[in-house]
Amino acid sequence: MAVPPKQDAVYLDYAATTPCDPAVVEEMLPFFSERFGNPANPVHQRGQDALNAVEIARERAANLIGALPQEIIWTSGATESNNFALDGVFAGQRVKRPIHIITTAIEHKAVLEPVHALETFGCSLTVVPPDANGVVTPDAIAAALREDSLLVSVMWANNEIGTINDIPAIGELCRSRGVLLHSDATQWVGKMPTRKVAQAVDLLSWSSHKIYGPKGVGALFVRRSLPFGLMPLIRGGGQERGLRSGTLNVAGIVGFGKACSIAARSMTADAERLRSFRDRMEATLMAELPGTVVNGRSAPRLPHISSMTFVLPQLRGNLMEILPGIECSSGAACGTRDLAPSHVLQALSVPSKLARSTLRLSLGRPTTSEDVGRAVAEIVRVAKPLLT
Ligand code: PMP
Repeated sequence: MAVPPKQDAVYLDYAATTPCDPAVVEEMLPFFSERFGNPANPVHQRGQDALNAVEIARERAANLIGALPQEIIWTSGATESNNFALDGVFAGQRVKRPIHIITTAIEHKAVLEPVHALETFGCSLTVVPPDANGVVTPDAIAAALREDSLLVSVMWANNEIGTINDIPAIGELCRSRGVLLHSDATQWVGKMPTRKVAQAVDLLSWSSHKIYGPKGVGALFVRRSLPFGLMPLIRGGGQERGLRSGTLNVAGIVGFGKACSIAARSMTADAERLRSFRDRMEATLMAELPGTVVNGRSAPRLPHISSMTFVLPQLRGNLMEILPGIECSSGAACGTRDLAPSHVLQALSVPSKLARSTLRLSLGRPTTSEDVGRAVAEIVRVAKPLLT
């Protein structure tokens, strides 16, 4: 039997996933057993009811990013959205010519793996490194652009260190050069109080379970005026205008839509509150544990993610594993014997030894001031004796 988590550990891993908002669950529930129709079959009332619910959710998702409802395609999450954007553009472009794709060294694996796979199909690839602050600058993208560039994929904000890339500026650059821009905005959408997100890009991925919606649902924004159609990844019954077949996850989509409308209302206040918690957490830990570095500190950063590297000469193993009171992420690639730094920390040249003492602490809507205090006290209690 699965072991339930210890309820007294402080959860600071909201960048990995968030709990469903109770209002989201409430809105989803009728769609399991009562309102169970298939939206692809609106020939009777139950099917029409499901279709209406899916379309309300589509409007809510579109509103959150300043897009049109017909520009939203439902997927199973940001991983699928990213794969679809990248493979779909590659396979969908009609001009048969050599293709160059540009991405960055700090992308999520759900971008890096598909673009490396496209290389094996003859696409040429440039992977742009971040600057010393963990940001990919418009200048770095400009320097990588070539005559044969078709697509640029740059994440809006990094999921490990929280650094924010200037996507509107990169979008302008791409538009001026006739190149498409995709952004993995999984950590950005619904977190940062910006509207008109869609204006900056041609394609945009995000995910329900990062914004207090259910797991297994996501969306891809595809600009209506894209010069060619995307090639579908999943073919079958022709749902989602033939772009993504398969019976829709109606309850999940309804929940995602509700999560989008809650985020639209609460993201400004959430961001402000979490920024003050994060700043207090970082300041206290830096004061208590000399040598501590906040990765990407001098860059614009998301308010809810903090990646901190502690200098602990006496540490054996991985710091995260000796912090039973906190549920968070490590800066090291778990499961490997040498605890190598994650590819993001590697791009920032963080040495392996320090990756073991790096924590990603990510805050969320339910985080309280008391949670932050308890987490800080626990880190200080465990780390202080390891300083010398
Ligand atoms: N991109 C980023 C930036 C992410 O943080 C995540 C989740 N870790 C993903 C993509 C994958 O999202 P999903 O779990 O919805 O497939």
